[in-house]
Amino acid sequence: MMVRINDILDAINIYLPEADTGLVEKAYVFSAKMHAGQKRLSGEPYLSHPLAVSYILAELKLDLASIAAGLLHDAVEDTLATTEELAEMFGKDVAFIVDGVTKLSKLQFQSSLYKQAENIRKMILAMSKDIRVLLIKLADRLHNMRTLEFQKEIKQKAIAAETLDIYAPLASRLGIDWIKQELEDLSFKYLYADDYADLKARVEERLGQRKAYVEEVKDMIARRMAEYAFSCRVLGRPKHLYSIYRKMNTRNLPLEQIYDLMAFRIILKSTKECYEALGIVHSLWKPVPGRFKDYISLPKANMYQSLHTTLIGPDGERMEVQIRTDEMDQVAREGIAAHWLYKEGRILTKESTKSFEWLNQLAEWQRELQDPREFLESVKMDLFPNEIWVLTPAGEVKEFPRGATLIDFAYAIHTEVGHHCSGAKLNGRLVQLNHEMQTGDVVEITTSPRHVPSRDWLKFAKTGKAIARIRQWIKTEERSKSMALGKELCEKEFKRHRIDFNEALKNKGAEMTQWFSFKHPDDLLLSVGYGKISQVQLVKRYMKEVLKVKGEAEFWEDVVKAKPNEKEGMITINGLDNIMTHISRCCNPVPGDDVIGYITRGRGITIHRTTCSNVKNIDPERKVEIDWGTGEGYIYPVKIETLAIDKKGILAEVSNVISSTETNISDARVKIRPDGIAVLTFIVDVTGTEHLRRVISGIRRCDGVTQVRRVVSKIS
Ligand code: MN
Repeated sequence: MMVRINDILDAINIYLPEADTGLVEKAYVFSAKMHAGQKRLSGEPYLSHPLAVSYILAELKLDLASIAAGLLHDAVEDTLATTEELAEMFGKDVAFIVDGVTKLSKLQFQSSLYKQAENIRKMILAMSKDIRVLLIKLADRLHNMRTLEFQKEIKQKAIAAETLDIYAPLASRLGIDWIKQELEDLSFKYLYADDYADLKARVEERLGQRKAYVEEVKDMIARRMAEYAFSCRVLGRPKHLYSIYRKMNTRNLPLEQIYDLMAFRIILKSTKECYEALGIVHSLWKPVPGRFKDYISLPKANMYQSLHTTLIGPDGERMEVQIRTDEMDQVAREGIAAHWLYKEGRILTKESTKSFEWLNQLAEWQRELQDPREFLESVKMDLFPNEIWVLTPAGEVKEFPRGATLIDFAYAIHTEVGHHCSGAKLNGRLVQLNHEMQTGDVVEITTSPRHVPSRDWLKFAKTGKAIARIRQWIKTEERSKSMALGKELCEKEFKRHRIDFNEALKNKGAEMTQWFSFKHPDDLLLSVGYGKISQVQLVKRYMKEVLKVKGEAEFWEDVVKAKPNEKEGMITINGLDNIMTHISRCCNPVPGDDVIGYITRGRGITIHRTTCSNVKNIDPERKVEIDWGTGEGYIYPVKIETLAIDKKGILAEVSNVISSTETNISDARVKIRPDGIAVLTFIVDVTGTEHLRRVISGIRRCDGVTQVRRVVSKIS
């Protein structure tokens, strides 16, 4: 039976009798126009779907904006309507909700949901932003499940599995029990058709046989309650099939041993009566020990309240009895809706929201808002301020801390994907690796075997995993470079003495390693590479201990020479001290400059400015990244060229300014060009780029000076 707009308006009239339903009627007209000509798989006009969804929302007693949004929920995705158009016609609120539902429907999850179901549920919650978006999504799914028979079997199974893993638990969290049960039973029917049909028939048969029994129990309860002058309603309902099926599976029991196919419910006026009624039923039938649960004093996270007990019934069979007030019953049936969506004039207590663990933040806003409707309209959920969820192209959901970037995503896929990632697409668009991801983004990483991690990545990696893996890669890389350097230094030094180092290492490696208290020959090579011990020291020891050569004096000089000098020793290479380093003479870097290290053959590492032309074309294998250490107090020579109008005493004047910045001038020359411009060249000793800047800006202020520049050239 197709729902008509009047059915919806009638349903609204029950709980909002005074309301002006103009917005809903207008949404209906617009939706009918936009979906005109479209058909569902059932052959019905497409409009039947938004109508059915809106009717469910009216059953949930939602506000008019939600019901209008329900009518329009597929308009942006499936028709030519735009969000802007909806905002103009129906207001921002309705447009925002429809936009949220549209975004949710674009999510594509992969089929093996079970493992990541919790992540997907959180992602949906985070994306909903407004609780009404989620409620519409649930109503949408419910109607799609009710009409699932028109889909192909493979789709039926996929949709049913997703419903069971994702949407039924979401309905449960919102406390809307009837939606949860219906979604579960419908999923059950399509996922396990044979089991479903079999169980349904058997349960119906048993319940048929037990009809008289059910009436007897209800009657006994009602009569006893009347004796105590309690006005109550007693209901006897079969439990929903999926809950029976689940129980049979988890406890591995046949249907014959599932006794509580029925749940009896006693609905009273007050909490006090509930506890008294519990005593009364316990006096009627014997309770099963350990089966009593007091959800009144300890409500479930979804605000469900009730007393549960299991009794041995008149026929010796177990039966479950639930005892609750009218209000609790309403919450049990309608969940969050019962509490927040229509209780005119009621003030939400802090306690009632406290139990919604995952909606905790809502309590904050609630304190300032008295009217639940106002509350509903202003609630924009940010349930997970510190987490985001993004999708792989295959629909797998990954969780990240807020602020995480694409490099984190790459490492979350696989370490190798991280190490070799060369670029990324976000929602199909090429973006930089440092781009921050948002919940719902679809991310695709491209890799190339030639791409390797860069130190820069550490600046925008946010996850521990990415940071650790990048650091580890850099460290391993440095280690292998330093080891290669150590080996090279040793080979060269040993060769000078006509010894084959590799032979020596092969035969006496263990011994050599022990001389310096290392555990492994690699550590020895590494130490030479780092400049902690020198290759000269090693060859000397080798000649003395292994070749028994006497006369140490011969080597003494070399040892001194090979020791890194004080000034250069302060440089750290990626945090490792004591590497044998030299400041290159071609570009004369000073602390503060961007620099790069070059592994030379036999002279340790030379430090160049990254802009130096000499390092532009060197073998990338021989490059290492360099950090300046805390080498303050050391001085570095820099050549500065100054152009000035030739006038008497210009050299003295400029020299004077330089000296006033407490800078030593180690060389000063002046040359007059034919055009009358004086070219002054200084070599000054500075401690770093900051110092150099002071010198240069001082010179610039001199009268007659037209140009000052640092010269990148060899200082002899
Ligand atoms: Mn829909």
